[in-house]
Amino acid sequence: MASEKPVNLKKHKKRRPSDSSGRVCIIHNSNLSNYGDVKPLTEIGWKKICDIKCIRLQSDNPKIKLSNICEQISEAPNDFCHGYHRPCYQTFTSLRQTEKRKANEQEEHSPRKKRTLNSQGTTLLLPSDQCLFCKKKNKYVKRKQDYLVKCVTETAKMSILNAAQQKSDSRVLGIAETACLIAREAHYHESCRCDYTRNVAHTTLPTSTCNIETQSKMEEAHSQAFHYICDYVQKHIIDNAKVLLKTD
Ligand SMILES: [Zn+2]
Ligand SMILES: [Zn+2]
Repeated sequence: MASEKPVNLKKHKKRRPSDSSGRVCIIHNSNLSNYGDVKPLTEIGWKKICDIKCIRLQSDNPKIKLSNICEQISEAPNDFCHGYHRPCYQTFTSLRQTEKRKANEQEEHSPRKKRTLNSQGTTLLLPSDQCLFCKKKNKYVKRKQDYLVKCVTETAKMSILNAAQQKSDSRVLGIAETACLIAREAHYHESCRCDYTRNVAHTTLPTSTCNIETQSKMEEAHSQAFHYICDYVQKHIIDNAKVLLKTD
């Protein structure tokens, strides 16, 4: 069958080395040696790579910025074909403490931080009292208030971006284009994000689950179990005045 012809990954060896697992190193640094296997991406590893990428890209020093490596980092990594070499990961993520501190200080003390429009092109924060999707502050789901949450995880960010791309939602894509949703501190209702990202094929890491959905299912199961016990107690213990052994 023609469709099952093995893909010749060796062709890409020069640019993005891969190994027998078929994974390519997304942070490959060709100045190193003893690469070893391409390790699969973990969620923690991926988050660290993104954090370091954010810090590196803020730097004016090309040696710190490593833009050629940052550029090859995929926005939506694929579990099956992306990974990293340990030495590449170590080199990429070992930023001198001073650089990290500098990046943090810039973020914390920037006087322009709270502005929504900024001619200097630094990170523009999104309003913290407005949902990215419904643009409202207060929302109630099943009579419970759904509070606004800040976009802090890569998983959440990627699920939104992925959905926005598939929906060709220029508004959300435009917002995410200026700076990443995490850096811009996007806020949203978890239920709105679930609605927004529902029915969208996942090309991101397979960890994006809708917590609110899982949670309400769990609650439902709990309440069913509780009712079952209540019924049982009512029928067998109270009605029949039966003495129940602990092991029953
Ligand atoms: Zn590598
Ligand atoms: Zn909302």
